[in-house]
Amino acid sequence: MSMLPIFLKLDGRRCLLVGAGLVALDKIGSLLKTGLELTVVAPEARPEIQQLAIETKLQWIQRPFEPADLDGRFLVITATDSLEVNGLVYRESVERGILCNSVDDIPNCDFYFGSVVSRGDLQIAISTSGQSPAVAQNLRREIDEQLPQDLGPWLASLGQLRRDVLTVHPSGEARKSLLHLLAQRELCDSNSCPTRQLAKKTLEPGQAAASRPRVHLVGAGPGDPDLLTVRAVRLIRTAAVILHDDLVPQAILDLASPSVEVVNVGKRCGTKTITQEDINSMMVDHARAGRTVVRLKGGDPLIFGRAAEEMLALAEAGVDFEIVPGITAAFAAAAAIGCSLTDRNNASNVIFSTGHHAQSHNDSPLPAIEDATRVVYMPGRDLHLLAQEWLHLGLPPDFPCAVVSRAAQPDQQVRCTTLAALGDGAPTLAPSLLIAGWAVREIVAAHQRAATGVAVTAS
Ligand code: SAH
Repeated sequence: MSMLPIFLKLDGRRCLLVGAGLVALDKIGSLLKTGLELTVVAPEARPEIQQLAIETKLQWIQRPFEPADLDGRFLVITATDSLEVNGLVYRESVERGILCNSVDDIPNCDFYFGSVVSRGDLQIAISTSGQSPAVAQNLRREIDEQLPQDLGPWLASLGQLRRDVLTVHPSGEARKSLLHLLAQRELCDSNSCPTRQLAKKTLEPGQAAASRPRVHLVGAGPGDPDLLTVRAVRLIRTAAVILHDDLVPQAILDLASPSVEVVNVGKRCGTKTITQEDINSMMVDHARAGRTVVRLKGGDPLIFGRAAEEMLALAEAGVDFEIVPGITAAFAAAAAIGCSLTDRNNASNVIFSTGHHAQSHNDSPLPAIEDATRVVYMPGRDLHLLAQEWLHLGLPPDFPCAVVSRAAQPDQQVRCTTLAALGDGAPTLAPSLLIAGWAVREIVAAHQRAATGVAVTAS
């Protein structure tokens, strides 16, 4: 017959401990932590127990057990070295309908104490229903070795965050998934964690920011789960729906919770063809239904991943999105062969291109020189010279440029401009990187519309 594991609230309850030797002392520590009102009955008591009685942490009745001691008790523990006394306490307790545990005396027990691993309010209790206390103790030791020591304070801080969330966010799917996100331990230590900030953000009256439809476009990296970002892991674990490409391997999908809906929307998926329009509608429909949607793409979502079309469809449907970068195949491949993609003597450019474009799909009306997104690492503080070089090469003065400083950090800044004006304006915070090309035209235009000045802090 299986037993029911429960955690009892004993605060303020009147409980009885029969016996005051070593075994009893061993139980007293964990009993007193619960806030119970403890009476110990025994003709003799260990000095530590006598001391606790002097300090009024418990009451010691100095005489042998009498059945009347049980009156009004919520719980009884008998820890004497006499099977006869234990048996008597148990029988009298059963008679009165009081739960009784006789330490190390299985027939005279209504309940057993589990082997416990604890970290603050976190308690893991193990039972083998008396089959093998040694197994329970071994497991306890193994779990204890694996659990981080600071789980207790972390849990206490998480508890506070949870209460904040319950106060400021309306109930529903979005709140549920936010609470799951917060419970991802690796993210909650930093005060600048965006999820932590969202949890504490008081909503404007009538505004339900947490429940706005939202899709996460997540990079799954080159395929090794170890090469996922922490944020990607957290989103995969908490997603309600994952729409993934063929490139994403099962080992990564296995990180998701068992209840997640996983859809392979890869273009090579089985015999049926899922169009880009189908994928767009799936993302929009799931997000509007309040689900946490993860659109999981191999490598980085913004490299040859048709992300531009998906972002446009989401924006048109009024669905917010977040992009979580991943390690792109180029970086994984370079790492695999131990090759530095740049070299001070031989390689000062890295160009990402696709075979598709070179073969038959080149319908770009642009001159070849403009038909590339140019990413310049270490652009320097004075961009004037670089702008002159590019203009001299034949790039047009209105070629869109974005200087991204401290990307993905709390003080991230984006300066949007054109090639003609690239050298003007104050230097941006280091480190920064320049992205130029018609692919950033819309982003540059949006920033320029939103900002009266040139510098815009991106969210
Ligand atoms: N967004 C992806 C690229 C998608 S295009 C990224 O950032 O990596 C798909 C192509 O990427 C594949 O045809 C292959 O050329 C390349 N690719 C993706 N994963 C790869 C891997 N693990 N090793 C080598 N090439 C890979």
